[in-house]
Amino acid sequence: MILDYLENSVQLIMIITALLISLFRYIGSKRLCWLYSVIFFLGSFLSSYFWTAYLIVMGDYPNASSILAYFGWNTSYMVFMLLLIRIKSKEELRYFHPLMLIPIPLNIWQLSLYLQFGGIANSVYQVAVFTVVSCLSIQGILWYYRKRINRKSHPWFMFCAFLFSCFEFGMWTFSSLEGWVYYLYYPCSFLCSVGYLFFVWSLSQTLEKNTEDRVLIDNRIQNILKSTFVVIVAICSFGGILLADWIRDVLAQGVSEIAETNAYDIIPVILFLISEIISAFAITIIFVVYFEQKVAENNKLREERRVAEQSNSAKSDFLANMSHEIRTPINAILGMNEIVLRESIQAQKSLSQDPVSARKVFEDISGYSGNIDSAGHSLLTIINDILDLSKIEAGKMVITEDSYELSSVLNDVSNMIALKAKAKGLEFTVEVEDSLPNGLYGDEVRIRQIITNILNNAVKYTDEGSVTLSIKDGGSGSEREIGRDMDLQITVSDTGIGIREEDVSHLFEKFERIDLKHNSTIEGTGLGLAITHRLIEMMNGTVGVSSAYGKGSVFTIHLPQKIVSKEPVGDFREKYKKSMEEELVSEITLHAPDARILIVDDTRVNLVVATGLLKDTQIVTD
Ligand code: ADP
Repeated sequence: MILDYLENSVQLIMIITALLISLFRYIGSKRLCWLYSVIFFLGSFLSSYFWTAYLIVMGDYPNASSILAYFGWNTSYMVFMLLLIRIKSKEELRYFHPLMLIPIPLNIWQLSLYLQFGGIANSVYQVAVFTVVSCLSIQGILWYYRKRINRKSHPWFMFCAFLFSCFEFGMWTFSSLEGWVYYLYYPCSFLCSVGYLFFVWSLSQTLEKNTEDRVLIDNRIQNILKSTFVVIVAICSFGGILLADWIRDVLAQGVSEIAETNAYDIIPVILFLISEIISAFAITIIFVVYFEQKVAENNKLREERRVAEQSNSAKSDFLANMSHEIRTPINAILGMNEIVLRESIQAQKSLSQDPVSARKVFEDISGYSGNIDSAGHSLLTIINDILDLSKIEAGKMVITEDSYELSSVLNDVSNMIALKAKAKGLEFTVEVEDSLPNGLYGDEVRIRQIITNILNNAVKYTDEGSVTLSIKDGGSGSEREIGRDMDLQITVSDTGIGIREEDVSHLFEKFERIDLKHNSTIEGTGLGLAITHRLIEMMNGTVGVSSAYGKGSVFTIHLPQKIVSKEPVGDFREKYKKSMEEELVSEITLHAPDARILIVDDTRVNLVVATGLLKDTQIVTD
């Protein structure tokens, strides 16, 4: 009898453990397979609790044919079978191998043994379901080793179902035999109990590989549901046994007075009701999880719709703004060109009569051409920004790294910005740490783009005062070595209009232009900083902003760059000064009257441009 107590208690503990794991996994993942598992263990719990509690209270097993005794087991076998079918692919379910049929004769033989204990319908049902379970498990294992095309995860769950059927088969068979073989029932039962844990493990192995919808329920609610269930299971399980124990004692006094009575029948009914309460509670939790998930999904959808609407409206604003931004330089280009046409015709006419005024007209024309050039460049910048952003969004932007010279980047960028700053009457200063290594490894083109974008903004949003570019090593001062990364810190500060604190978080969002009240006259698309930010992220760098509204802003960028040469940048201020003093207008130095070039282009105007640009070189073009 002691073996029976042990067997039933171990089984009950294993089932409760597996039930809790399954329910927690269901709450945490909302996967249908875990729901099957919960129902399987609830069914098993229903019967196991009933049998164990009855055994503890009454010191004997309940009437085996009682429908209460088998209700739980019968439900769980059916769910086990359905779960196996659910896990299999259609292809696997259609697979046939003669070995799959082995369980059928064995189970028929076992049924004939079991029928002597009565409960025919019950026995036939159980044996039939378990025959299907064992056939399906053999099918799964054979299919995996013979037919699988891509390497699916090991069929652990099929192994589990197969072993489970073997142990159950052993239990049922040995329990209906006599002599020493009967005692083989106990090891089979213990293995079966351990099998419950194998069940949850193998199911999680199988599910891990598939992706289903993620649970959206708040962690706090998940924890409340989990702990409430643990408390309910503990209270009801112990409470049920205590209650049944108490009823037995109360009845014992009455039964001694009225001897022939079935008053003890109340005890299985009470135990059954208690286990039902636990099941009902588990089902309530399943519903709560289901509805909570639905609510969370709805909230997520609503939030996604809000974000989509917001981004849609930002896009519409962007398009409206963009049309304006594109139209402005195009109008300037066409307008200026119209003037060039008119005035050059006029100059041609007056050239022979009045060469002085003709010269004046040509001077004006070069001024107009300068304006066309600048409008053309703004148009190109806008279009490049749009293309860059689309490229980044499509995941097609790649960082192309190579060795470059830091001084060359700084020189070019500074010269370009100096002109713009000068035109606005701003002071432009460049401060570069002398000891910085000059040879670095990274994406030079994108680094130029990042620094230019930030500097352009500083000039654009500053009406008076100064713009300063400062470059230094932002690292901890650790030893600089070739092949190691250094932290290239780029700081751009201005004394411009500044940015409101609440606007800083939107600064790097695409299509976002802020403080439009004050910026309405400044050209811009709201793309520059979005692109800059993404490029910096792609280079594993960071960018930060600090600003005092109305006083100015400071943009600080950190970019990890590999050192390829320790030669220092040196006195950049001196080099920069020199380069600023040099003639800025490019001069044609190549003359090759004997050379001949074939230019191929399907756009007529490109042929005109190429030929025109090469005119001074005296190269013959076809
Ligand atoms: P835009 O083409 O409008 O300049 P950006 O993405 O470069 O687009 O900048 C986004 C917004 O950030 C600008 O519209 C401007 O309001 C603000 N901003 C950027 N740089 C500065 C700065 N240095 N000072 C003040 N405001 C700035």
